[in-house]
Amino acid sequence: MRKIDHYVSGKRVAGKNGNYADVTNPATGEVIAATPLASADEVRDVIAAANAALPAWAATPPAQRAEVFYTFRDLLKSHAAELAPMLSDEHGKTNPDALGEIARGIEVVEFACGIPHLLKGEYSEAVSTGVDSYTLRKPVGVCAGITPFNFPAMVPMWMYPVAIACGNTFILKPSEKDPSVTVRIAELFSQAGLPDGVLNVVHGDKIAVDTLLADPGVDAVSFVGSTAIGSYVYTTGAAHGKRVQALCGAKNHLIVMPDADMDQTVDALIGSGYGSAGERCMAVSVAVPVGEATADRLVEKLKPRIESLKIGPHTDSQAEMGPVISKESLDRINRYIAGGIEAGAELVVDGRDFSLQGYENGFFLGGCLFDRVTTDMDIYRDEIFGPVLSVVRAKSYDEAAQMVDDHEYGNGAAIFTRDGDAARDFTSRVKIGMVGVNVPIPVPVAYHSFGGWKRSLFGDHHIHGMEGVRFYTRLKTMTTRWPSGIRTGAEFNFRRGSEV
Ligand code: NAD
Repeated sequence: MRKIDHYVSGKRVAGKNGNYADVTNPATGEVIAATPLASADEVRDVIAAANAALPAWAATPPAQRAEVFYTFRDLLKSHAAELAPMLSDEHGKTNPDALGEIARGIEVVEFACGIPHLLKGEYSEAVSTGVDSYTLRKPVGVCAGITPFNFPAMVPMWMYPVAIACGNTFILKPSEKDPSVTVRIAELFSQAGLPDGVLNVVHGDKIAVDTLLADPGVDAVSFVGSTAIGSYVYTTGAAHGKRVQALCGAKNHLIVMPDADMDQTVDALIGSGYGSAGERCMAVSVAVPVGEATADRLVEKLKPRIESLKIGPHTDSQAEMGPVISKESLDRINRYIAGGIEAGAELVVDGRDFSLQGYENGFFLGGCLFDRVTTDMDIYRDEIFGPVLSVVRAKSYDEAAQMVDDHEYGNGAAIFTRDGDAARDFTSRVKIGMVGVNVPIPVPVAYHSFGGWKRSLFGDHHIHGMEGVRFYTRLKTMTTRWPSGIRTGAEFNFRRGSEV
């Protein structure tokens, strides 16, 4: 059995304590590798390596740091065809989807190439007579990232390129379900010239996460994953005096106005609801048609499209959607489907008996569509994280927009309409972090920032873009006077402009 290594101080390092977790190919159900689960001591060794690398890296001029990023970007591009199947073997997503996630990660690396510009400070001449003041952004220190299974390449790259460009060192604790690609990418970063110990990868479970959250050698923690774990990471990390951002679960609504282009809307719902088997935090999982006639037209057009989805392993170039990540996940989704039927929703498309010759042990599920879902049902309230779309019929635009606001999650939402007034009102009023107008998955590009509201994000900063730079730096403000400045004598009282 292939054993996955940690990556510490520029080298692959085997797990030492004998604890391993199975890594499974979701298309076949076969165990294909074993990933080490680090002990607290092993994690502390990695923290020590990241601390040892910190002073030299923090002192490296930003333009020299950027040089490494230019090479890293080129290596990622030239290795994308190697990385994508490695990722999909463990995750299950289709090859174009894996290449797409790598491309979105590369965008963040490109953003990080501009770090000399992004770190420019502020300078005020003559804040008082002969006194000048300037503010710099300094690295926070050692940063940790804890990431989910659904984007094993892209989500870590939302974090460490920005953190490292800012002069921090980084410890990544990837999902134990699909960790191989993270190690290979770290290796490419070393090949690009990143000094040893600046990016480290440690595999593990709760023990590794708890060690990172409590150890004084870690200064900041970025988390992306489910809301239950994210709120724990946020409160625990903050209680240990760390800067924490935790991006969490979602239930993204797409409002369909009566004037929407129905073919465009259906295309959008198919891609955003069923792409990556619905395992995206920006997947649309609720469609809210306004008015019965709109709803009837929508469901009528969605049904045959869902029934004809091409489902298969990533090695099938025709596949539009792969399996879900694990048997546990498949069972959980099936429980939600049974619960939805029991609660009175109408299962218009039932994907539960989907099976694929040669892949009978894979975790495949056909696309499912529920109509006449109500807001008190679990299938509406909870994040299912599978290829299950719920249609909740609204009588009016106001009722639809209110529904979006009343939901506990606030990651993404979209409105499909030709009505500028409705779109403008929607974008302005909803309590949602990322909003689309005729765009179903409004994931911001790397130079904007990604993040939700409400229980979709704990902390003060969104991720990547300028918010990433703010999260991974802290301000230092200098106030300076030179002997030729006017002598004021001893100052005993605060006065405007002369507190200095
Ligand atoms: P998860 O919360 O199960 O795992 C995330 C990370 O936390 C993993 O590294 C895991 O090892 C670790 N972890 C798991 N249990 C833990 C525990 N008890 N204590 C400490 N650490 C623990 O999430 P997942 O199933 O891997 O990913 C799916 C979730 O991620 C969904 O809820 C999805 O919406 C969310 N997600 C959110 C965003 C976003 O930007 N908001 C992006 C991608 C995924």
